[in-house]
Amino acid sequence: MSERDCIIIAGAGPVGSITALALSQAGIPVIQFDAEKETPTAHRAATTHSSTLDLLDGVGMTPTILAQGLRAQYFQYRYRETNEVFAEFDFARLAGETNHPYAVQLEQHKTVAIAQDMLRAYPDFTLHREYRVVEVENGADHVRVVTETPDGGKQNWTARYVVGCDGGRSFVRKSQDIDFPGFTWEERFIIVATLFDFEKADDYRYRNYIADPEQWCSVFKIPGPDGKGMWRNLFPVIGDAPESEATSDEWIRARYDYCFPYARDTAIIHRNLYSVHQRVAVAFRKGRVMLAGDAAHINNPLGGMGMNSGIADGLNLAQKLTAVWRGEAQDDVFDLYDRQRRPLAQKYVQAQSIQNKETLQAKDKMAANLRFEELRRTADDPLRHKAFLMNSALINMAREAAKIL
Ligand SMILES: Cc1cc2nc3c(=O)[nH]c(=O)nc-3n(C[C@H](O)[C@H](O)[C@H](O)COP(=O)(O)OP(=O)(O)OC[C@H]3O[C@@H](n4cnc5c(N)ncnc54)[C@H](O)[C@@H]3O)c2cc1C
Repeated sequence: MSERDCIIIAGAGPVGSITALALSQAGIPVIQFDAEKETPTAHRAATTHSSTLDLLDGVGMTPTILAQGLRAQYFQYRYRETNEVFAEFDFARLAGETNHPYAVQLEQHKTVAIAQDMLRAYPDFTLHREYRVVEVENGADHVRVVTETPDGGKQNWTARYVVGCDGGRSFVRKSQDIDFPGFTWEERFIIVATLFDFEKADDYRYRNYIADPEQWCSVFKIPGPDGKGMWRNLFPVIGDAPESEATSDEWIRARYDYCFPYARDTAIIHRNLYSVHQRVAVAFRKGRVMLAGDAAHINNPLGGMGMNSGIADGLNLAQKLTAVWRGEAQDDVFDLYDRQRRPLAQKYVQAQSIQNKETLQAKDKMAANLRFEELRRTADDPLRHKAFLMNSALINMAREAAKIL
């Protein structure tokens, strides 16, 4: 194997790690770089959908995800004002459409750890941590990459292809002058973790959305560091309060007073403030450089679709890289990757995540009632209930992608 006979993956988040696993299982040498010393444990993705569990069966990860995660069969919508559950969805209605008719709640850093543990079995796989990709030169027959280590040391690498899985601020995307149009929401989101048991206190499911024109929020259960359960609340931060104020105990307790007064005195284990964007890159492929996951598209977290659609990108791309590597397909198959993933990221992930947010925060009373009534009728009608889940579990997205040739 010459040095350049490999695929370089920038980023060892969930998308980069699962893409690396699929390529390694196909016998392709992979070099992966991540700028950080360790996978961050900050609260981000927790929901893995049915379509993703089906895909991850293909690389052998699903049994471990099921063993470590919490099965979330239901999710519900409530009004904050009255606490009435106005719509509840049951993934069991997807039986026959997927091998996993439920979602699984598992923190994304644990999903990364599962993939990285499996990667240790492959001698042709190397992960270099604290190696930041700082240059990408997209050549006719290879790609040259420069990495930088914290001591300022630089190294040159070459590969047949580079996959940018380096997150929303992707250097790889910027290095190729690929635009990332879209918008940033005015409000920021704060995520708060607590041990308060919302199921016991008020019959919450493991995934819940609470609608309110001023302070919508969500309630999610995750396994937590010891696997015994932890709860997460997501609140919008409206206005330009400095981070120190928006993440203060006082600010958070005021949100609890408004949404869950019975939980106001709970210990706050973790808090994290995020800016939220809706953006899709104008191309997922340029020459020998491909983008996947947040490097290619980002969205608000309502519905839990960013990581899920990113994993589907990575596994779709890994199949095509494998076919080209083995001489079974031509280079133009990467344009098919773009056609199968990019328009559908707009149609499903962007559209649904924006719609989810607009439903929860609807301000105009009449418009809000229409949206809530629509959701209630969808949940009450067996056909529409299932159709709704086929979209939210990203099964329709996967099937539509497979039809694009
Ligand atoms: C609050 C919140 C909740 C969410 N909940 C969900 C959910 O329930 N379900 C869901 O599907 N999605 C959810 N998401 C979205 C999800 O977190 C992202 O879509 C997911 O992390 C994308 O994975 P990734 O591997 O593409 O990028 P990342 O996870 O961002 O990983 C990128 C990696 O690249 C590395 N990197 C960056 N630059 C460089 C460089 N120049 N060189 C080398 N390495 C580099 C970083 O260190 C990082 O490890 C949520 C997001 C937030 C903020």
